Amino acid sequence: MTAAEPSVDRARALVDDHVRAELPGWERSGRYPRELAAASGLTALFVSEPAGGLGLSYPDGMRVFEQLGRGDAAFAFSLSMHNAVAAALHGAGSPQLIATWGERLRAGDALGGFSLTEPQAGSDATAITTVARPDGQGWRVSGRKAWVSLAGEADLFLVVCHTGEGAGHRDIAIMAVDGQAPGVSFPRIYDKAASAFLPIGEMLLEDAPAQELVAAGTGMRAALAAIDVARCDIAAIATGLHAESLDTALRYARDRQAFGERVLDFQGIRWQLADAATDLEASRLLVQAAAERLGTPDGPVAVAHAKRFAPDAALRAAITCSEAMGAYGWLNDHPLARFIALAKMLQVVDGTAEVQRLVIGRDLDRQAERL
Ligand SMILES: Cc1cc2nc3c(=O)[nH]c(=O)nc-3n(C[C@H](O)[C@H](O)[C@H](O)COP(=O)(O)OP(=O)(O)OC[C@H]3O[C@@H](n4cnc5c(N)ncnc54)[C@H](O)[C@@H]3O)c2cc1C
Repeated sequence: MTAAEPSVDRARALVDDHVRAELPGWERSGRYPRELAAASGLTALFVSEPAGGLGLSYPDGMRVFEQLGRGDAAFAFSLSMHNAVAAALHGAGSPQLIATWGERLRAGDALGGFSLTEPQAGSDATAITTVARPDGQGWRVSGRKAWVSLAGEADLFLVVCHTGEGAGHRDIAIMAVDGQAPGVSFPRIYDKAASAFLPIGEMLLEDAPAQELVAAGTGMRAALAAIDVARCDIAAIATGLHAESLDTALRYARDRQAFGERVLDFQGIRWQLADAATDLEASRLLVQAAAERLGTPDGPVAVAHAKRFAPDAALRAAITCSEAMGAYGWLNDHPLARFIALAKMLQVVDGTAEVQRLVIGRDLDRQAERL
């Protein structure tokens, strides 16, 4: 048994005892289950033990996210983002910031959000225009963020912005902004294809008070490092969605008879499920290989391979598994129709497959130079 086992078990129990049963209610009410997130015991995965967290290694953390992905990828994603914020605060925050927010974030009493994307700046994060100016006591931030997850729900947002202290993106810093502060509003919550319970929308910052988390000069590097961990989380969540899709189809194909045979005995179905099983093995190995390299120079490209592959494989698996169940694949008794929408979401969030190919392509350039 590793140090991660209690957390993996907790994630499995959270999914088995709560997420599957309660999800239809979350969707009907459109309400984020913050009490469940707080009670999950999974809100400080990557904060060190001396600082009061669980201090999981990245490979162990990915096993937790795989379990969460079996239940609901959107809820799992919200915990991924919260954990990224909690880890960044403890890794880079001033003693004062940690004193104000640390304990509440670790306990899940406060939730964290991450605001990088803007209406005109998605994949090209260097095109952001949000600015921060010093005001003598701290900073004031102005700008409009887009695709802010937990909009209006999270308590602390890490906002990526310019400070004017350096050319190009060298002036990018990360500011800690209280979601309730004057000058912070959420003027638009998106109407999405799935996951009504997870509020995502625009965040307007009008001279909002902020504290510096990461200063200009290292802000972009710190943001990219946090995004690498988040991308690995997403690949692990996709692996969980993939595994659950396969289990769902296997149970059905084992028990369902057609033309006097088990559906699982039809070679056409069996071979498609075999391909989904091979892809699942590949996704798991890529996620673990990437997690082991996080924080090293090989991390970004290893993560790009996992983030490029796992959501695509999960989408293919969800479609294949739904087809293997015939009409029943469309029933909400099974998660497969929802999983198809969620796998599409996982392809985009924290960097699209094309952006991962850009990262891999740049690495190929370096390899070509060495040949
Ligand atoms: C569910 C969800 C939650 C999110 N939560 C957050 C959040 O909490 N905080 C946050 O900051 N952001 C969040 N995002 C935003 C997300 O990170 C961006 O959507 C993503 O980075 C892509 O940006 P975009 O949607 O603007 O696409 P665009 O950048 O406009 O891209 C459009 C298309 O062009 C392709 N493309 C772009 N550049 C290239 C290129 N150089 N070469 C080839 N193809 C290219 C893209 O792959 C895509 O297919 C969330 C997104 C989703 C879907």
